[in-house]
Amino acid sequence: MERALIKNGTIATADDTFKADLLIDGGLVAEIGSGLECPGAQEIDATGCYVLPGGVDVHTHLNLTVNDVKVSDGFFNGTAAAAFGGTTCVVEHPGFGPAGCSIQHQVAHYQKEAEGEALVDYGFHAVFQHTDGNVLDGLPDLISIGVPTAKIYLTYDGRLTDYQILEVLDGAQRAGLMAAFHAENDAIVTFLCEKFRAEGKLSPIYHPLSRPDYCEAEAIQLIISLAEAAGNVPVYIVHLSTASGLRAIESARHQGLPVLAEVCPQHLLLDDSCYAQPDNAGLKFVMAPPARKKADCDALWEGLAAGSIDVVATDHCSFSFADKVKFGGSDFTRCPGGIPGVETRLPLLFSEGVLKGRLALTRFVEVVSSAPAKIMGLYPRKGTLALGSDGDVAIFDPNAEKVISPETLFHNADYSPFEGMRVRGWPVATLVRGKVVMQRGRLLAEKGWGKYVRRSLR
Ligand code: MN
Repeated sequence: MERALIKNGTIATADDTFKADLLIDGGLVAEIGSGLECPGAQEIDATGCYVLPGGVDVHTHLNLTVNDVKVSDGFFNGTAAAAFGGTTCVVEHPGFGPAGCSIQHQVAHYQKEAEGEALVDYGFHAVFQHTDGNVLDGLPDLISIGVPTAKIYLTYDGRLTDYQILEVLDGAQRAGLMAAFHAENDAIVTFLCEKFRAEGKLSPIYHPLSRPDYCEAEAIQLIISLAEAAGNVPVYIVHLSTASGLRAIESARHQGLPVLAEVCPQHLLLDDSCYAQPDNAGLKFVMAPPARKKADCDALWEGLAAGSIDVVATDHCSFSFADKVKFGGSDFTRCPGGIPGVETRLPLLFSEGVLKGRLALTRFVEVVSSAPAKIMGLYPRKGTLALGSDGDVAIFDPNAEKVISPETLFHNADYSPFEGMRVRGWPVATLVRGKVVMQRGRLLAEKGWGKYVRRSLR
């Protein structure tokens, strides 16, 4: 197996920042120290750069199809975009499967699609879309194939009732599986969308109004109560977007309840004025939950810095702007929901977080890599640079400047929601298990280098 020696960089982990060389041998971190030499190893000069544990994005939809509309990426382009952005491991949330399917069905389907395609390592969450004895009895098998987490939706057709959620939380606790929740009150969304349609209010500015902040806060409070009733089971809230939702989480955590929270760059950086852009450009930002108010962004940054939000993921879901206009151009409720983001997560968090004084460098590494790896059962194989960890590295130039646009990104989507933003700090090389998969804007690995990773919470 090849060896890679990264020299003259500054290693930055969630705990510490120090100048050192890093040797990767057999795909694993083999040595960390100053003045390392290793004849025959591939040498990479990281002068002036941070050497970070590769990003871990635990919320992607790289391969989603909804109502026969597919996202722009698929596993090859999506994981390549991840590599371009310094992310070396993704955990994909599958879409809903056929009615009545087993809990393994979607994982098996996605696994087949990813096989031989991925550039970076990948795992899967499962998704609950109904409950019965078979679903609950299937949880130990799911865990045995390395999938110890599964999503529950409170909205959309695959949503569960409160009672079903209690059954799942009870079964999950016994099996050792953690549930992740999409928190939106379905009745409020459905009611407001129908009302706006009846009133002819169909432009993108009504999208955030159809999913108000209390719609998220109510759902989060309900999840917390159900988790409490099930015996204080740990729950993970995906894409937290509101100050009021954050307050509910903080209050639960204050009582000692194990409620974990994830935020996405779009909810830290975009506000709902984006929906008023001319020529239907507001459709670019149609996602659930929507962009909120500036005050929500501020609260989320504070929660992230203070530790009441644990993880930054992306919810990357790259429906093209062309498809958004095609389906949602005359009715925002029919617009495919989701935005691309897997490639821009580290640069945006560094530029807007670290350089603007909102996050310490160590906290940045923690929220984009270490904490998601720990919470999702990948640590210390992923999420840190310790001896024996996978040689997954982002070599990050803190002075590289880029204006975000589809032309400067590898991702396949025909737009970026962060278009026009000037960002400082970008990965110049990304290694996955010691192999350079991206360097200076070029892909250097074959598709299929990325491997399935089994996760375990115990
Ligand atoms: Mn999602």
